[in-house]
Amino acid sequence: MKCIFCDNKNDAKSIEHIVPESFGNNFYTLPKGAVCDDCNSRFSTFEGKALTNSVFAMERARLGVVTKKGKNSKGKVNELIIEGDKNFRKTYLTIKGIDQNNSRNYDSEKRTIQVVVPAFDKSEVATSKLLLSIGLESIYKSQNKIFSKYDFTDMKNYLTTKENQDWPFTTSEYEIGKFKSVPTFYDKYRLKKAHCKLTILEFDDDTLIFQFDFGGISMMINLLNRKLDWFKELIKKDKQAQIYPEHYRTKLGIKEV
Ligand SMILES: [Zn+2]
Repeated sequence: MKCIFCDNKNDAKSIEHIVPESFGNNFYTLPKGAVCDDCNSRFSTFEGKALTNSVFAMERARLGVVTKKGKNSKGKVNELIIEGDKNFRKTYLTIKGIDQNNSRNYDSEKRTIQVVVPAFDKSEVATSKLLLSIGLESIYKSQNKIFSKYDFTDMKNYLTTKENQDWPFTTSEYEIGKFKSVPTFYDKYRLKKAHCKLTILEFDDDTLIFQFDFGGISMMINLLNRKLDWFKELIKKDKQAQIYPEHYRTKLGIKEV
């Protein structure tokens, strides 16, 4: 079989999970050989970082997700150590390392405090790669027509490190059009139960926007190239929308928040 990322013929032994197993997916997979062992091992590096050193770590802990190894989820975002419940109960999570830098509005009467967790800890690049790989794999699995209609060369070059310029994505959930589900029927239903939603929007000829939702987190990325016309449209509607990696903000003249 030919690897969908590097085009190499291979007889890979492992089954690729389209959404990483540590998000709680053990059913939405690709046949052996669709992703070669080289690509698979390259991907596991950024996958690990995106899952444990970003806002996804918090959400996995909050949702009581079971990891690939059957453990409770753990993560670290800057100085905060995040751990999900050992019995996988939802909303029972432990956060260590809270101090005045990441806590606000302590209410002594209600005994509440707001914990501010940064979205990424040097994990923006890893997250963008994770989004791209989930995007292409899910389209390959569930949307044949779209898979053969578009040219994914830019993304493939980036994910196989033939080319290394950062690829932009947003954490905004504002929908600039009518997105449709990538997985269909039973896959869509089961992914929903696992708090995952994968949708796409054919925005224009060279913009195919992939949206990945996990619990309360939503991210969007253009699967075809690094152009940002779609984001310029989006930010008109969602003024708080942020683009990552941060240097793209300078390029677009967006102020830091
Ligand atoms: Zn490959």
